[in-house]
Amino acid sequence: MIAPHRRSVLGGLCSCGLLGLGGCVTNMANEAPMTAGYRPQSDTDEGGLWYIVDRVERNVERSRYRVRDPDWNTYLTDIVRRLSPDLHADMRVYLLRAPYFNASMAPNGMMQVNSGLLLRAKDEAQLAAVIGHEIGHYTQKHGLARMRDAKARADVGIFLSMGLALAGVGAAGDLANLLLIAGQYSYSREHEREADEIGLQRMAAAGYRPMAASEVWQQLIEEDEADPNRQSPSVLFATHPAQQERMETLKGRAQQISGGDRHADRYRTHISKIRALLLEDELRLRQYDRSLVLLRRLQAETPEDGELIYFEGEVYRLRDGDGDRRLARETYEKALAAGGCPPEAWRALGQIQRKDSQHDAARGSFRRYLELKPEADDRMIIKSYLERSV
Ligand SMILES: [Zn+2]
Repeated sequence: MIAPHRRSVLGGLCSCGLLGLGGCVTNMANEAPMTAGYRPQSDTDEGGLWYIVDRVERNVERSRYRVRDPDWNTYLTDIVRRLSPDLHADMRVYLLRAPYFNASMAPNGMMQVNSGLLLRAKDEAQLAAVIGHEIGHYTQKHGLARMRDAKARADVGIFLSMGLALAGVGAAGDLANLLLIAGQYSYSREHEREADEIGLQRMAAAGYRPMAASEVWQQLIEEDEADPNRQSPSVLFATHPAQQERMETLKGRAQQISGGDRHADRYRTHISKIRALLLEDELRLRQYDRSLVLLRRLQAETPEDGELIYFEGEVYRLRDGDGDRRLARETYEKALAAGGCPPEAWRALGQIQRKDSQHDAARGSFRRYLELKPEADDRMIIKSYLERSV
């Protein structure tokens, strides 16, 4: 697991070992690394663990939160193959529509990638950094070590909650439960460090720029720092020293390994198809300060991107604090002047103008919206407004 989201639907349950919340012992014995085609004997504790996660995987496969877009699934599978030419055939990657920065790896080779991670990665190398880290947990069998450690400490909670989650997942595959299961694999900081190092080496071997790994952490720290609701530094997230330490360690190591590509264009081609949807999911979290950091970072890459500017306007409109309405109007106008702005920007501008009693301007904006999107789902409501307000 790369990082939990502090305000996930699960609250503190979706925890990760980088915080050491599980209080793992640090002197646990390392397991023998994974080998291709490996499958444990069913009468061993490892076999039992796999039995459970195999069942979980069947629920993940059927989940309505699974993104089934074939292009994206092929793309992610290709990244796994590049990073793991030796073991990729034993891993399956599932993309989940979940607006949190996270990915996780189960001991049986089931990897879950959250859509919130895709939105936050700037290029393919950054995404590969997270995937490479997860592969590190898999190759070193950290999940098994974690289970044995929990067992040794008679920490039955982990198994209990896994069983509960399993019972609750059902055919629909409830998102909270899927994330809960992913959160069970919380690792010690030692394991996180090992996974970081393996991820870095695999990135370099696959031709990715290793510096991308520390950038991912830096970006996460920036978002955390912008969040006024973050908790005290001593608990959970808020620029936790572990984040800073991992970022700096990764940076130092990457400086020793030169070269590598970012594959920013290839990434952009893929993300552009789903980005609007992911940004809508992001805004539903109502973590506006965090979203603004994200949007400004994305805009720094492509400054005249009307879609990104429109979503920045959406943040102001939804936040609706002092001066936000004016900011929203100005930002929508900027978005409409830039290329690639969705028709919804006209509707949003119309809403602001209507609130400001600029009825002529509002009617003009709504008409423009309907011209550009005549089949809009809300066309009847807009038309009725236009007729009423003549
Ligand atoms: Zn991890």
